[in-house]
Amino acid sequence: MATANDGKKEIVIIGGGIIGCTSAYYLTRHPSYDPTKHKITLLEASKIAGGASGKAGGLLALWAYPSSLVPLSYKLHKELAEEHGGEERWGYRRVHCGQVDCVGRGISGGRGKGRSVPGKEGEMDGNEESNVSLQKRSKDALNKLRAKGIPKDLDWVSPNSLRAYEEMGDPSTTAQVHPYQFTTSMASLAREKGVQILENSPVTAINYSPDGSSVSSVTYTTPSSNKPQTLPTTTLIIASGPWTPHIYPTAPISALRAHSVTIRPSRPVSAYALFTQIKLPSPFPANKAHSGQIVTPEIYARPFTEVYACGEGDHLAPLPPTSADVQVDESRCQDIVDSVGSVSDELRDGEVTARQACYLPSVQGSSAPLVGFTGSEGEVMAVGHTCWGIQNAPGTGKLVSEFVFEGAGRSAKVKGLDPRNFL
Ligand SMILES: Cc1cc2nc3c(=O)[nH]c(=O)nc-3n(C[C@H](O)[C@H](O)[C@H](O)COP(=O)(O)OP(=O)(O)OC[C@H]3O[C@@H](n4cnc5c(N)ncnc54)[C@H](O)[C@@H]3O)c2cc1C
Repeated sequence: MATANDGKKEIVIIGGGIIGCTSAYYLTRHPSYDPTKHKITLLEASKIAGGASGKAGGLLALWAYPSSLVPLSYKLHKELAEEHGGEERWGYRRVHCGQVDCVGRGISGGRGKGRSVPGKEGEMDGNEESNVSLQKRSKDALNKLRAKGIPKDLDWVSPNSLRAYEEMGDPSTTAQVHPYQFTTSMASLAREKGVQILENSPVTAINYSPDGSSVSSVTYTTPSSNKPQTLPTTTLIIASGPWTPHIYPTAPISALRAHSVTIRPSRPVSAYALFTQIKLPSPFPANKAHSGQIVTPEIYARPFTEVYACGEGDHLAPLPPTSADVQVDESRCQDIVDSVGSVSDELRDGEVTARQACYLPSVQGSSAPLVGFTGSEGEVMAVGHTCWGIQNAPGTGKLVSEFVFEGAGRSAKVKGLDPRNFL
């Protein structure tokens, strides 16, 4: 790859998810970036953060993986928040994180706000008191919680549902961002420093020199022209998430669909990210098919009175052509709403503000992403970030900028993420 002083670079980024946008951001912050000399274009097939990067939970953790990338990226998240007002702008804050075992209550079915809790319910404690709103916690229930080591301020999960709490992280090791706000902010900050961002512009081909050794251009389409466009490219960043095999067929990237919802709780809730195991009651009137099942939604309280919850993944719908075509299965979203409502009055009585789905990108045969050169001159790949792509995006973006301008990743030891080991 050409080095910083060799002259003009025509840098193209494929993908406006969190990885493409943080790469754009850090390229513009690299000491060797000169907007009068280097041109950076980000091509996004649909819209910025239209995929997983806008629909993820947003948990950040020093205990995430891979260990080569996590400390750098966790630190950069903090620095970015300090530099750009991330608390206000993208909801950066430190949080508690725990694994909870719960027994759900038998709420009735229904969509959205204000579902009632009729009659005798589920497997609580065999105690009708347990059907009553959380606000009516008995002294006895609070004492039980303390005895189980459940934090006092985790007061939005029903004490009668909670069976156990195990701390996974505390505010010194765990934080969060709002992924959509973070990703779109990174895009804006990159644009301010000269990056051209083209939405609705899918790349249809990567073109190489006649001997195939180096990248030469990309072909893409735009909404305004039926003719494919060609963009000369000296440096290509492939950050196309789960769609990567569509343009780079040998990339071992797979896609898993996952549904999530956001809920405006009936009152503000404390800052906890919860990995749950909920035994649904039998019968479970909200969805009889799930009576007695164990479900494991993740529930993240967010700033500004929002709670995010996601369910398990599925392979029922293959990856569609773009993020705009992702099918949302309303019943899977409702399952999440019902299961989290079965353990929290604040969520049960809240308002569902989004029902959505997206695709998680993973590297087949590895739990770590691919970050580095592909082997073709001028080509860098940053894909397959699994369930920690929000956490690991700033570190990835910073390393991408170093691969581009310095010829190697300097800020972390990431030989283990070298794409050439997998392509
Ligand atoms: C339910 C769920 C919850 C999650 N929660 C967390 C969490 O709490 N913490 C965490 O760290 N991570 C989390 N993740 C993981 C994280 O969301 C992903 O790892 C991350 O968003 C991947 O980012 P990306 O930019 O690689 O991919 P994407 O967000 O998929 O972005 C890829 C982009 O490339 C574009 N593109 C694709 N092909 C082309 C093309 N040919 N031309 C132009 N553009 C193209 C797409 O349109 C898309 O916008 C979660 C994931 C899921 C599914």
